[in-house]
Amino acid sequence: MVRKTHTDFEATKRLFTLPGSLIYLDGNSLGAMPKNVSERVQKTVDEQWGVSLIRGWNDHGWVHKPSSIGDRIGKLIGAENGTVLCGDNTSINVFKALATAVKMRPDRHIILSDTGNFPTDLYMAQGLSSLLEQGHELRLVEPEGVEAALDETIAVMMLTEVDYRTGRRHNMKSLTAKAHEVGALTLWDLAHSAGAFPVHLDACEADFAVGCGYKYLNGGPGAPAFVYAAKRHHEAMTTPLAGWWGHETPFSFDLDYRPASGINQMRVGTPSVLAMAAMEAALDLWDLVSLDDVRIRSVDLCELFIAEVERRCPELTLASPRSAEDRGSQVSFHAEEGYAIMQALIADGVIGDFRAPDIIRFGFTPLYIGPEDVVGAAEALERILKERRWDRPEFKVKAAVT
Ligand SMILES: *Cc1c(COP(=O)(O)O)cnc(C)c1O
Repeated sequence: MVRKTHTDFEATKRLFTLPGSLIYLDGNSLGAMPKNVSERVQKTVDEQWGVSLIRGWNDHGWVHKPSSIGDRIGKLIGAENGTVLCGDNTSINVFKALATAVKMRPDRHIILSDTGNFPTDLYMAQGLSSLLEQGHELRLVEPEGVEAALDETIAVMMLTEVDYRTGRRHNMKSLTAKAHEVGALTLWDLAHSAGAFPVHLDACEADFAVGCGYKYLNGGPGAPAFVYAAKRHHEAMTTPLAGWWGHETPFSFDLDYRPASGINQMRVGTPSVLAMAAMEAALDLWDLVSLDDVRIRSVDLCELFIAEVERRCPELTLASPRSAEDRGSQVSFHAEEGYAIMQALIADGVIGDFRAPDIIRFGFTPLYIGPEDVVGAAEALERILKERRWDRPEFKVKAAVT
């Protein structure tokens, strides 16, 4: 059953541009386009850049966008004003936050993460360790083994809250508390959390966090990402990416770096104003919805999808946790011919995605996905499997992005 909520999700769906017959279950990879984005970007180009030119930095407040948009994202992830900065991409923000955290634990050399983490986070930790040349090591354990692996050698526990493949969700509050008990700092990646359900960074006492702008926040392809540092760390932290925009007084053009106070030191270089305009417009939609309602609806849509697919396609096995409490806003199934099945589904107007080695993945974004889409997608999947429509050479050719 899909429960009624106070948020009108029929109305939010109308705020997005979606091709008529398409069922889009990939908002966890690239959010759909809110209709107000094109006008906002156009206006920023024509009326701000085109007319104000360099004056736009002051006259249109471009200079403040990373912080003002950061504060708006902060409201969605339980972070007080002045603790979130919007900019760069998630990978760069992982580097900034991780390097900052590692430096705050100079006697420790282990970065703890899990095998369900997204590769870029792991690569960034490996790159940082080799750059430091101080014997830092990335230690990977199974997701279920993180708690047991926490000890007093761990400098930073770096986790993605929701596993990008299976949707398995860590318990942020309890793992953060456990990490703190052994004196470790925490870095949470919210790529599949921000905009998917309520997050409470401050209340969980998280130390650092990062996340994507282009997934559930719908900021557009390559949208600016975000980085969070808890206020209690602002005095002690120093970012390794000492860019001029993170300087205390960028326009005094000093020869020596002095970090800006607070989260502003996480600025690096000039922000992408056009991308910020799209991001800001996309964030307007969140003023109309309650994240608690989004979560209720997301749980119901995911449950409905699991029930429909298991009933219609017994050959698929659920790769996501069965209990909604342990899951983000996506559902995955193992399928041996997963890549070809997904290509056939896409050809049939249902977009999800494939993650190696054998996962077909479906993201549920209540702002623009309803129960009729869920049932339609399950029907299409059933058809494709029953008729073996995936078994065609053109569905087996791998594209650059899967
Ligand atoms: C999508 C995703 C990223 C993407 O990083 P980019 O630098 O924006 O490409 C990072 N981490 C996780 C967990 C992700 O799911």
